[in-house]
Amino acid sequence: MNTKRVISIAALSLTFAVLSNPGLVTRAAEQAPKQETLSETYRITRANDVEFQKIAPFKVFDNLYYVGPGYVGVWLIPTSAGIIMIDSAQEPYVDFVMDNVRKAGFDLKDIKYILLSHGHLDHFGGAARIQEASGARVAALDEDWKMIEEFAGRPGRDGRPPSRTPKRDMVVKEGDTLALGGTMLKFYHHPGHTPGVLSAEFTVYDDGVSHKALWQGGGGYRGGLAQAEEAVVTTNRLAQMQGIEVLVMIHSWAGGPGGYPNGGVLERAQLLAKRKPGDPHPFVDPAAWTKFITQANANAVKNVEEEKRKAAAAR
Ligand SMILES: [Zn+2]
Repeated sequence: MNTKRVISIAALSLTFAVLSNPGLVTRAAEQAPKQETLSETYRITRANDVEFQKIAPFKVFDNLYYVGPGYVGVWLIPTSAGIIMIDSAQEPYVDFVMDNVRKAGFDLKDIKYILLSHGHLDHFGGAARIQEASGARVAALDEDWKMIEEFAGRPGRDGRPPSRTPKRDMVVKEGDTLALGGTMLKFYHHPGHTPGVLSAEFTVYDDGVSHKALWQGGGGYRGGLAQAEEAVVTTNRLAQMQGIEVLVMIHSWAGGPGGYPNGGVLERAQLLAKRKPGDPHPFVDPAAWTKFITQANANAVKNVEEEKRKAAAAR
């Protein structure tokens, strides 16, 4: 009882000290470290910190692993007949990605396909070297193969040599499917971010329990009225897809200024590492997907209005 009393008196005098000295409160608030999310850290604060970006690979589902650096996704879908890789990161991370594949327990030679989200270097920049190491086929939509071909030979940044670019290999299109070892991916053409954004739906398994996953190859739009209108069509189509439970994000924050609702890849990975038997899977979050695509659709509609205003003003 005495101890309790002593504590409450101590607490009271501390309260009094704070109340009678407002400066103390301000200082304490200033000293508290700003809470930034992992999405912000990897996207902004330490975007160029190469060693920091080299995170350990992790398993998300029975048939889905993350092997990329912190800022750009590289995913593996292992099947009984080999591995499907989604995206390939870029230099200087390509050796790291290949090491991560091995660290995750896989053999590079088992990679049968490398699927490219779209024709930007952060996604296709590792494909040529990983293809050489594995013998995998590299697949993209025709429109973005053209982008990759146009990129080939361009000098690197800051006087560095040009990035290696994969040669046009496998051309997929809307409605195509890819089957490997009992896993099937269904492809979509989702233009906006680039002309040939590639997405796919497939099934992931959480200790045998199936969930519908969507790998969405890029959001937003690249400027221009026609492109903005294209993005509205894409977001409408995405919003109409039924039963999406898991978003396979091409960047750990997925998109938008606030990042993915309820956390991106890295925040969810932290929860997954602490998950107890019987807990829900932190990557299974249909409500977050609905919120995300509803917002993306509203943004796309706003972009069209903005482009129309710009066009009218220029006349
Ligand atoms: Zn991009």
